[in-house]
Amino acid sequence: MKTVAVAVPRPVWNTYSYTLPESMQGGTLEGCRVVVPLGGSRVAGVIWREDPDISGSYRLKSVLERLDSRPLLPPSVVSLLRWASDYYMAPPGMTAAAAFPPGMQGRAVRLVQLEKGSRLYRLSGGRVVEYRLLRDMAGKDTPVDRILAEEAQSGLASSWWKPENLPPPLKVSMIEPLAEPGALTSAGQSLRSTAPKQAEILACLAVTGTVPRTELLRAAGAGRSSLERLRELGLLRETVVAVPRDPLLSRLSMDEKPPPELNPHQRMALETIGGPGTCLLHGVTGSGKTEVYLNLIKREMDRGRGAIVLVPEISLTPLAVSRFEGRFPGGVAVLHSGLSRGERLDTWNMVQRGERRIVIGPRSAVFAPVGNLGIIVVDEEHDSSYKQGSTPRYNGRDLAVVRGGIEGIPVVLGSASPSAESWKNALERRYTLVTLPDRATGRELPSVTLVNTAGGGHSLLSRELLAAIGKRTSRGEQSIILLNRRGHSPVQMCLACGHVEKCPSCGISMTYHRRGEMLRCHHCGRWKSARMRCPECSGEEYIRQGPGIQKVEEALGELLPRTRVIRMDADTTRGRSAHWKIVDRFSRGEGDVLLGTQMVAKGHDFPEVTLAAVIGAEMGLYLPDFRAQETTFNLLLQVAGRSGRSQKPGEVIIQTLDPENPVIRLACAHDYEAFMEMELNQRKSMGFPPFRRMARLLWSGEDPSGVRRAAEVSCGVPIPEGCRMMGPSEAAMARIADKYRYSALLTAGSHRLLKEAAGLIREAFEARGGKHVRMDVDVDPRNLM
Ligand code: ADP
Ligand code: ZN
Repeated sequence: MKTVAVAVPRPVWNTYSYTLPESMQGGTLEGCRVVVPLGGSRVAGVIWREDPDISGSYRLKSVLERLDSRPLLPPSVVSLLRWASDYYMAPPGMTAAAAFPPGMQGRAVRLVQLEKGSRLYRLSGGRVVEYRLLRDMAGKDTPVDRILAEEAQSGLASSWWKPENLPPPLKVSMIEPLAEPGALTSAGQSLRSTAPKQAEILACLAVTGTVPRTELLRAAGAGRSSLERLRELGLLRETVVAVPRDPLLSRLSMDEKPPPELNPHQRMALETIGGPGTCLLHGVTGSGKTEVYLNLIKREMDRGRGAIVLVPEISLTPLAVSRFEGRFPGGVAVLHSGLSRGERLDTWNMVQRGERRIVIGPRSAVFAPVGNLGIIVVDEEHDSSYKQGSTPRYNGRDLAVVRGGIEGIPVVLGSASPSAESWKNALERRYTLVTLPDRATGRELPSVTLVNTAGGGHSLLSRELLAAIGKRTSRGEQSIILLNRRGHSPVQMCLACGHVEKCPSCGISMTYHRRGEMLRCHHCGRWKSARMRCPECSGEEYIRQGPGIQKVEEALGELLPRTRVIRMDADTTRGRSAHWKIVDRFSRGEGDVLLGTQMVAKGHDFPEVTLAAVIGAEMGLYLPDFRAQETTFNLLLQVAGRSGRSQKPGEVIIQTLDPENPVIRLACAHDYEAFMEMELNQRKSMGFPPFRRMARLLWSGEDPSGVRRAAEVSCGVPIPEGCRMMGPSEAAMARIADKYRYSALLTAGSHRLLKEAAGLIREAFEARGGKHVRMDVDVDPRNLM
């Protein structure tokens, strides 16, 4: 008897074991989907492992159907899924779900088809029906199961399972000629005087052969009735076929510029990258990284191998994709969340069948079923969107490195400001460092002006900034203004000197709470009175709320009434493609200023932008997050990169209350290495990643005292020596959608130790945490709010 461990699409920590009937055995099992009974329902899951060790002799249920005769995922992806589930402490079934397009797993239904002569035929009338429905219609007294079993033998009945939510294929009517081209033409000629439309159809068909009906009718300028007439004459036939939905073809104009001659640094990069292992490609925006990716991919394609390119969702613009599509026409598949379910499924299937060898997509594309993979590229590797914010909380960038290791292929991580993790790996020679020091177009990096807005009396928009925007508008050039105001978490900042109070044990800014007038550390829970004198200058006046985007929008409207402002933030980018529409409007020149949160800094290439500005550059520094400095530095560097990308020189203005801040100073000087040296030293002394491993534990529920109690009993359990626990304390965002939240940060010297400790805490929670509280473990967290 063969048994298999199946990952079911449910939030459960383990796989379930089933027996596999003889008829379903054979071939590779791991990675094949099967339908299994689970509780009261039937679900489609994935065979996670063959033949697990089942001790004891309890009765296992049997697999109901094997959906795939061969695994849809390459073996490397099945290994990657198992690795990810283990590393991120995520349920196997939910991890597996990340690798499939929606609808390929989940609840399953049994369908039945009956032929004429079946005793149940009158119930279905020859259509495919759901088994459940058939049984209901037949009534209790009809032995439906027995009849189906008998009639299956004689071919009168067949039945199969399918995932309930699988999008149906797109069906298109095709017209197929039933005569050879010459005969069609002469038939057309004889019809020309009496039925010119029909003649035209035949002439078209003679040229095209089988063709979609809508296209034929459009080309011939004819209607359905003419077609019908020709069908009756036996000259053609109409068939319905499934065609893949291919969003790329309909939307993109291809970029067919010839590739530029590579410069010496790029050539060096191409020579260095190639063997297995990870390479960090460090180059300022515009230094020609994408050109390097394109050449590397070309090399692999010439060897018959495929490629995966991960990009942050937000920079997956039609323009960026067209560079790849232009270089590899018909070879590119794009997976992103703007696609419909059907488009996603069809695109995925094309990749799975090997019809597209290059996949571009956000983090989930790391699981793309590209067989014979040659290279993985991760662009903007520092971007936090590679981390998934819900279970399974994986990081696509890190999994790219793992998949590269499994497949024995090169992985390229590209960035203008690599993450602290990757930089440390490069310094320690785990990654090969390749640098592109200059802009490929020869343009200088834009000059940066720092404007001090401290000391009170200043409005939101400094005189310098207003003048610079006005100048751009009158010249017909554009500006980008960034204000990274993420609403929650006010800090208390001294109005006179800009000082912000930090937690002595965590080094992060303390958050001001109006209730109780206190400052509180959101990592460890330490608190102190907010009624204090500034330790720097003895000032007593504070600001506790920064400006917001909408305020800036109003101010711009008053002060520069002729300037057209397009706002881009979480409020204006709801909906599937809202963000792209805004980008598109701005690039067509419908606005003079693009004003928004960090979204405006990512990846776009607007040739008319000659001014990039940041308001309140220091604001991001005070988020209660040990990565606050790194994030701010990246953002400032990226904003600067948005300006002056084509022929006209660019300018950058940075407004801040804290012009002496070293993070801001180093960003203005474009000095990445000096910043990273400072940052890594601080991380090391505080015991944060990348020097220690971290997991975030989060408890949430509707009853605040229950949540707090659950957090406390979970963390009360003894953990291994060498682990450090910060908290539990109220989360920075203490309440989301009526759920109260408590969190704690756990760090350890190794991943093994971290997992052990987190496992103990989770066990304690499961034993005594209470029913109405939920606990989440986030390994390598990015979001600490
Ligand atoms: P990055 O990905 O680092 O931002 P890109 O590859 O997009 O850089 O290059 C920036 C610009 O420079 C693009 O317009 C690109 O076509 C151009 N470019 C890249 N490499 C070269 C080169 N060797 N010679 C001339 N232009 C180049
Ligand atoms: Zn603290």
